[in-house]
Amino acid sequence: MTIAATVPANAATRALRAYDPGHDLPALRERFGATLAELGSNENPLGPSPRAIAAIEAALPEVFRYPDPSGGALKSALARRLRVDVGQIVLGNGSHELLMLIAQCFADASTSVVFSEFGFAVFPIATAAAGAQALRVPALARDHANMPLGHDLDAMAQAIRADTRVVYLANPNNPTGTWFGDAALENFLARVPESTLVVVDEAYHEFVDDTALTSALRFLPKYPNLLVTRTFSKAHGLAGLRIGYAASSIEIINIIERLRESFNVNSLALAAAQAALDDPDHVARSKAFNLAERSWLATQLSSRGLRALPSQTNFVLVDFARDAAPIEHSLFERGVIARPMGGYGLDQFLRISVGSRAENERLLAALS
Ligand SMILES: *Cc1c(COP(=O)(O)O)cnc(C)c1O
Repeated sequence: MTIAATVPANAATRALRAYDPGHDLPALRERFGATLAELGSNENPLGPSPRAIAAIEAALPEVFRYPDPSGGALKSALARRLRVDVGQIVLGNGSHELLMLIAQCFADASTSVVFSEFGFAVFPIATAAAGAQALRVPALARDHANMPLGHDLDAMAQAIRADTRVVYLANPNNPTGTWFGDAALENFLARVPESTLVVVDEAYHEFVDDTALTSALRFLPKYPNLLVTRTFSKAHGLAGLRIGYAASSIEIINIIERLRESFNVNSLALAAAQAALDDPDHVARSKAFNLAERSWLATQLSSRGLRALPSQTNFVLVDFARDAAPIEHSLFERGVIARPMGGYGLDQFLRISVGSRAENERLLAALS
């Protein structure tokens, strides 16, 4: 049902739709309690570091104060860890906010933005919100030998026009789980004009174990038109606090800082993120758990005739080889939440997060 508003939305907003979570999560939590298997949002089943919890508790009495508008302490910690200058980092209320801001800062109705088919859902939204033209490049084929549904970097480089201001890449990508190595990225960067910003979204960086992929950060010194985003929502287990960051050249970061809300990152998130950085063992445990559990889950799915695509993330994209919507529905009727892929045009797939062993067993039982 459409209700006409007395004040019409602007052209960019008319092209958008509100976020649809697909199901009523609070209601499902009430209905299933602790037996609900939440495998729809790629959260860390180990939760956050105990140090992050302690830091939140310590910061709590100060919530009546505004947070540090520059996030200086966290930025310094990140700069040391990433080996960049403090001025090369901007913090966001989740990396989602930064992905939106980037399009607002660099794209407009007279420009275009390049991203891949089956690329992260925020890319087309950020493009539309900026009023820019979306250049969506077909992904690699479904039966591609190495990387089914992955980014076709060659075609993406060819799609870049003189008016292209932003290229969005996700590595590894959500929802496909696909990735590309450093060498492929370096080839790509060499082909991009310096007036186009290359955004590499590394939300799943901490889970990667393919040695061909380290990080786009290593190319920052050579490419001032490169920007890398990361998040505390996934491996760090802090999705509810909303905090992410981007690293780029000082010039690019200075432009983004002009449009950033002064207090965009809250004080609890700043404290928790800094403490999380100080606990690399927790990230290492989360990574090791995910690797072992994802491989077990893929084997279990395969023994049920279900193919999980290759993944370097904490989720798998599962091919049901028929319309997956009824399967998704009967899963959540049994207290298992998976992410439907119809919005991506991948009707036969569900994206399923690697949960705790108990959650994964509930998934397998429900599938049986
Ligand atoms: C989850 C995710 C993010 C992180 O979003 P936040 O706003 O930081 O929670 C960014 N990019 C991709 C590809 C993701 O899957």
